[in-house]
Amino acid sequence: MTKLLLFIAVALGIFVAFGYVRRNARLRREQAERAATPAEGMVSCSLCGLNVPRSEAVQQAGRYFCCDDHRQRNA
Ligand SMILES: [Zn+2]
Repeated sequence: MTKLLLFIAVALGIFVAFGYVRRNARLRREQAERAATPAEGMVSCSLCGLNVPRSEAVQQAGRYFCCDDHRQRNA
């Protein structure tokens, strides 16, 4: 009887540990996927219409430009 209880306790422990590891691995994979593919929008230059990533665009008064030269020419 004691052996049966011990077996059940060990089996339950393995089950819980396995579930914990799997959940952790899934969370890490989801975080890695989010980090690998940042959702970066494209914006078009207000002067020449060139599409550039938002992080590389020059912004002024809510409008985007492909370069500083175009921002100054449009001012
Ligand atoms: Zn431009």
